[in-house]
Amino acid sequence: MNLPLSLRAAAEMFLPSGPCLLCGGDSRSGPAPGLCRACWRLRRTPSEPACPICGVPLPPVEGQESHPCGECLAAPPAFHSHASAYVYAGPARILVLLYKDQRRYPLASLLGHAVARRVRRAWPEASWDAVVYVPSTLRRRLTRGFEPAGLIAMEAARALGLPCRRWLLPRKAPQAQKGLSRAGRRTNVRAAFTARKETVQGKRLLLVDDVRTTGATLREASRTLARAGAEVHAATFAMVLTRELDLMGTPAEAMEGEGPLCGVSEPA
Ligand SMILES: [Zn+2]
Ligand SMILES: [Zn+2]
Repeated sequence: MNLPLSLRAAAEMFLPSGPCLLCGGDSRSGPAPGLCRACWRLRRTPSEPACPICGVPLPPVEGQESHPCGECLAAPPAFHSHASAYVYAGPARILVLLYKDQRRYPLASLLGHAVARRVRRAWPEASWDAVVYVPSTLRRRLTRGFEPAGLIAMEAARALGLPCRRWLLPRKAPQAQKGLSRAGRRTNVRAAFTARKETVQGKRLLLVDDVRTTGATLREASRTLARAGAEVHAATFAMVLTRELDLMGTPAEAMEGEGPLCGVSEPA
């Protein structure tokens, strides 16, 4: 069925909410159909100290405030810094799956507001020229029906009072990153994007994506923007962490309160 977006959004709201995908409980009080309020409260934010560039948690080193991680030291990315709202696990992972795979795109508001809150916390003094995002290829846009990072960026930009621009464009159709190894992901996204010098040169941009998996996409996207003359900082809804210890993160609620519970009814 290929309903216009607004009609589909309305239809989504009347779907039965179903059990919570994490605990099996009633998800009606939660932020999304399929995620209950109690489980949402368990979301975690990446712990400190972290690499000041990519944001990956690091073991604390005595007498040293913060130092870049080995990967950023060996091959510095084109973005200056990256901050992620949540650890990609538990409720944050479920929310992304509901949003992207089940196409519950009204959740973009909830995800976008989480990104905006994280941006304010990470760069309280910063001023930005625009929010840009990692674009989907035309084929993926057609099959999925929407552009996941684009909608999140739009909501985050609105919350931050900034313009949202599609200044980063897909150049070729890379395979889906899902299921590829770290090295495979890097090769797959190489030269995947393009940006016009006339539009981005001299701009300070906030690059938004839904999930940072290995960082390959963020690296390539920011490389493209930086080559065209922009200063790039990146923000994502969630980041994949591989060390068992890092997965525990820090309870997010202590830092940000409960936040908006329902993306659909969030005021503009
Ligand atoms: Zn639950
Ligand atoms: Zn790093």
